[in-house]
Parts: sequence; structure tokens; C-alpha cells
Amino acid sequence: MPPKSITSKVFAVAFIVLTILVISAVIAMIVVYSYQIKSLAPTEPPPITTTTPAPPPRNRLPKNVVPERYEIVLQPQFYTEIPVEVNGTGPNQTMLFNGTSTVYFHCLEETKTIYLNSVDLKIEKSLVMHKGREIKSSYILPNESNIFLEVELTESLKAGENYSLFLAFQGDISRNLESLFISTYVDGANTERYLVATNMQPTEARNTFPCFDEPEMKAVFHVTIIHREGTKALGNMKSNSNRKNGWEHTEFVPTPRMSTYLFAFAVSEFTSVKSPGREEIMTYARPEATAAGETQYAANITVKILDFYETYFGIKYNLGKLDQIALPDLYPEAMENWGLITYQEGSLLYKEGVSSLLHKEVVTSLIAHELAHQWFGNLVTMKWWNEVWLNEGFATYMTYFAVDAAEPSFKIKDVLIMKDLHRAFMEDALESSHPLSVPVQDVQTSYEISEMFDAITYNKGAMVLRMLTDYVKESVFQKGITAYLKAFKYENTDQNDLWKYIQEAYDENDVITIEEFMHPWTSQTGYPVVTINTTNGVTTQKRFLFNDTAESRDLWWPIRINYMTNSSDSASLWLNAKGQEPEAKTDFISKDGDWILANVNCTGYYRVNYDAENWARLLTQLETNLERIPVMNRGQLVDDAFSLARAKLVSVTLALNATRFLRKETSFLPWESAVKNLEYFVLMFDRSEVYGPIQVYLQEQVRGLYNYFKNLTDVSEVPEDHSLQYNQLIAIEVACSNGLAECEEMAAKQYADWMNNSTINNFTVQQ
Ligand SMILES: [Zn+2]
Repeated sequence: MPPKSITSKVFAVAFIVLTILVISAVIAMIVVYSYQIKSLAPTEPPPITTTTPAPPPRNRLPKNVVPERYEIVLQPQFYTEIPVEVNGTGPNQTMLFNGTSTVYFHCLEETKTIYLNSVDLKIEKSLVMHKGREIKSSYILPNESNIFLEVELTESLKAGENYSLFLAFQGDISRNLESLFISTYVDGANTERYLVATNMQPTEARNTFPCFDEPEMKAVFHVTIIHREGTKALGNMKSNSNRKNGWEHTEFVPTPRMSTYLFAFAVSEFTSVKSPGREEIMTYARPEATAAGETQYAANITVKILDFYETYFGIKYNLGKLDQIALPDLYPEAMENWGLITYQEGSLLYKEGVSSLLHKEVVTSLIAHELAHQWFGNLVTMKWWNEVWLNEGFATYMTYFAVDAAEPSFKIKDVLIMKDLHRAFMEDALESSHPLSVPVQDVQTSYEISEMFDAITYNKGAMVLRMLTDYVKESVFQKGITAYLKAFKYENTDQNDLWKYIQEAYDENDVITIEEFMHPWTSQTGYPVVTINTTNGVTTQKRFLFNDTAESRDLWWPIRINYMTNSSDSASLWLNAKGQEPEAKTDFISKDGDWILANVNCTGYYRVNYDAENWARLLTQLETNLERIPVMNRGQLVDDAFSLARAKLVSVTLALNATRFLRKETSFLPWESAVKNLEYFVLMFDRSEVYGPIQVYLQEQVRGLYNYFKNLTDVSEVPEDHSLQYNQLIAIEVACSNGLAECEEMAAKQYADWMNNSTINNFTVQQ
């Protein structure tokens, strides 16, 4: 055991005391520190930010601010006549325009940057205001490839607040028939005159003033145009003018909410006529054309067409005025700007006794198309260009009804429909076609948007609407679109909105809904050929392609087939409503040698093929009593036979046999179909040993038709119906080009008579 001593006890007591003192000091320090920390009340550490500024847009505007109203002043400085130079110092024509715009907009999402569309404009000033206070800003001039103007702010705009952006700018008037462009004509005194007009669709408004240039960014436009004295400015709305220092200030009343692509104005020395009975409708043209009465037909027919639409849609045209202007140059040939429709003058003017009678149809159809847009497009607009068929398909489709109502004597409805059907069928049978409703991401740039204005959008759009009308019946369709127009006026839609309103009007339970029926037709490329085997009723469908070498795709369409037989009238049934396997339809089994005809009146957007026996029975029917088959189907049987032969689905012999009945045919549609399809054969056999027999065959086929019109043709007269006028032209063309003796004699005689008549030609005949 260790020994214990007195010295070690003293050390031990001292160590314990020291330890207690140190511990007490540490505790005291902790208490004081805690107290000091508390009294400082430090702020929370800053949160780590997770949002970064949005990248600049590439094609589409960000939706963080939306426009509500524009106040726009534009001053095109051109002269209507080049000023005479004095001592070589006179001014040249000036292509400059100045402008200011104030856009009042609403902020939806906090941002420090405002993006607008602006192309080729020189911005001179920007000013952002909020409740009377300026928000410091600077703008970035777009480089050449850019389509945006960027306004940078020193402080953020707040969601829910309203702001304004003032911009002063200048630009050059275009010479290319787009945006704000200059055009020329020669007046009665042989002097060159100038005018300006606009053409903003689809993305050209941004070249005239900085704007939110997307169809869904609707706003009110309050416009003033400053122009030289002696000229008149027309715009979307009614106006008042007053003079200041050699300039006319024309101020237009504010527009309803509308898309930028419908913005329009024109400055010219044109004169006008009022439409009879509706003085708010004015038709403008060069003074010489107006004085010669060349605008009168357009002025008259516009009233009938506008009245028709107002009744059909149950909605008045309510802009207070409607101007139509015949411009010397315009491309495309017309534009439906709200309240100021522009036309290429060759498509609007009609010279009595000079223009051909068929030219009236061009004028009427075009006006009917543009007026339909005042509802479909202007009042109710598609959300984005990927569904521009909601504008153009409707305008094309409504034209059939309006022309028929305004000019019933033309009897032209079926002709217009077949023309559009064949255009759509042709384009849509190519691999390169596209759906009516294209995915939004595929339609972004101005080029991609412009590409949408094609036969699919216009003609297939109209055909698909016609198919829908046939299914629900016209009264239901009319009720549905009227409700749709009323529900979405001054707003934007997509196709689902349309299906919804047609469905509500239809109010019937079928195997599928309107949307289920229509969606495959608008979202898939192409159209089917339906093949019916009348021996067992098996009916199949597949996409129709002229060149079917592409991989087969799993496409199907719900098809409502209207059909008839030689012993029964039209009935209908669903084929593949739910995308099932090929079906055997007992209705399609031929009984007692009956033929079966599907797609009666071509209301469905598809071709039909049959087994050889049924084809033979149909062609025999045509040769024995063609009236039993509706005229549209007579035309379509020819077109289907040739198209199926081109796609190697039937023999060429069958296609040629499908023209045998023409010997007795006097209607236009079957002949038109045959001539169009035979052109290819005639070209192929030209200069070959087969060409002679083909000519002989065609002479024999056309003789009956030629003789049908002979009494009129011989005395240079025409029938009253436009479709018969067309057919008279076909008779002469086919007969003379294939050497029918009667036709050649008639042509030689008429030419000699004309040459010898000095009152109708200025030639001196050399004897
Ligand atoms: Zn159009």
C-alpha cells in the first residue's frame, strides 16, 4: 500500500478551488454571450434563390405581359404623284414613315424585361409608365435576324398591375406587297400615281409598329393616320379628319378587341360607291374604274352576301362600316382585314360586256370568302396558326352557301365543292402532306406559319366541315356554330371548343362523340381508301397514297358511310367507329346482282374501291341509265378509278372503261373529272402509235356533248347555268383539240367572221 503525506493534502485542496473558479468563469461567459446574441436579434439568412431570369424568347412571346389597348399614330410620307423637279432640286418620292405607339398592358407575372415583336423598325425612344410615374428603361435594338424588341427596366413590373409603354419609331414603306407597302397605277391622264396599303397576315404587323404580334394577344386599336392633303385614309373603323399644316389627320374610332394581323389602313386618291340599301358598305377603286361602273357588281353582291351571313349566324356585322378596296397589286388576292377588306383589283372589278360571265363567279366567291372571315377569323380567332384551318376551312366552306344564296342562278355549289375536294385529295395523297391541326411546336417561325396556308388548310378544312355537317345535319351544324361564335366573340379558340358546341347542339347519343369522330380527321395526315368486297361484305380501310412505298402505318379513321344500291335509296352505317379490325357488313353484300355505291354525294372525305364485279356493275349502270347515280358520284367514280389506277390498286383498263359512259353525259362534273385525269394519258401517248386511237375514242365520246351545245356555240351564245357554261368550254376544248370535224369547221368560220368584222377588231386583213 502507498504511503500518505501532509504536503500532498495542501496541493489537493488548492487544485480543487482553482478548478471551481475556472468553471464558474466559463459559465459566466456563456451567459453573457447568450444575452448579447439575443439583444442583437440577427436577421434570417437570405434564402437560396431557385429562379433565374427567363431566357430571351426565340420565336414566341413570353406571356408575362398582355396588351389591352394601343394608341397608334402613323405618318407615311409618300407622294401620290412624284413632285415636279424645279432646277433639279425637287424632292424625290419618299418611302419613309414615322410612328408612335402607346400600348397599355397588364402584367401577369413579375418581370424586368418587356418583349415585343418588331422587325426593321428604327426605335427612337421608349418610355414606361406606371400610375403617372416613369419607370427608368432602356431598349435594345434588334439585330437583323431578331424579331423582338427588348425593353429593359430598372425595377420589376408587378403581377396584377397595369402599365404603358410609349415608343417612337420610323421605318421604310415596303415595295413587296407586305406590311405597309407602296403600289402604283397609271391614271386617265397617263400619270403614274402612288398609294399605300397594308397586308399584315400572318406576321407583318411587327414591321409597321412594335406590337404583341400573336393572334391570341388581342387588343383595342385606337389609330390616327397622318397623310398628305388630297388623299383619303381608310382603316378598320369609321373616322374623322382635320387638316394641319398641309397634312390630314384621320382619327379612327377604337376597334373592338382584335388580333394584330387584322390591322389595316390604306391611303389613296381612290373614289367609291355605296352599296344599295346598306350605305355603310363602300367599294373603293381607282377613280377611272369607279367612274366606269366596274365596282358596281361587287357593291351589289356584297349586300346580299352580308345579309345572308347575318341571318345564318344570327349575329350582325357590327363595326359600323365596311370598306372594300380594289388595289392594283396585292398578294394573295384578298385579305379579310376587319372593316377594310383588300382585293387585287382583277378579282373585284367586273366590266359589264367585257369581263367573262364566269368572272362574276370569281368576284362573288372571293367576296363570300372574305365576308365569312368577318365572323370566322375576325370575331372568333384561332389561338395559334397551327389551327388556322378554323379560319380558312370555315371561310371556304361557308362560301358554298353564300354564293348559292346570293347567285342561285349560277347553280355552282356542287362545282365549287368538287373543285375543293379534288384539290385536297391531290395534296393529301402525298407523303409530304400534314394534318389539319399541326402540333404547336411544329409551327413557330414566320416561314412555318406561312406554310400553313395551303390546300390542306383551305380545301380539306372545308371538306371535313362538310362531312361533319352531313353527319349532324345542317340545322344542327348551324345551331352549333352560332352558339360557338356567340360564346367566343372577341376571343380565341381551338378545335376542341368547336367540337364541344357542335356536340351540345347535336344532343344525341351515338357510338362515338363528335370529338372522337372528328379528331382522327384533323390530327392525322391523309385520308383513307375504303375497299368494299360486295361478295362477302368485308370492308377495309387504309391511307391512300399515290406512291404507297412508305412503311404501312397504323392509321384508321371513324367513317360514317352513306351508301345506296340499284334497288334502295341512301342509308348510312359506321365503319371502324372504334378502330376495330376489318368488318364484314351484311349491308354491303350484293343481292341479286345489285351494285353498291358508297359515299353518296361524296360527303365523306375518302375514296372507295370495290371488287371487280361491283365495278363492272356500276359502269354498266352508268352506260345504261346514268341518271340513277348522283352526278357528284359520276364525277367521283371517274376520279377514284384513275387515282386508284395511279396507286396500282386497280387496272388502267378499269380507269379507261370508267370514261365510256361520257358518250351520253352532258353534266359538267363527270366531264371535268375525266378531262383532268385523261390529260396525263394524252401527254403520255403523245407522238406514239396509240395517240391516234385515243383521239378517235375521245372524238366519239365528246360528239354528244358537243352537239348538246352546238346551237348555242354556232352563234356564240352561252347557257345560263355557270356549270353548263363550264361544260360548253370543255366540249369545245375536247372536240377541237381531238380533231372533231364539226368543231374545227365552227372554229375556222368564227375566226374568219371575226377577222372580217372591222368593228370588233383593229387588224387590217392582208389579202
Ligand atoms: Zn381566307
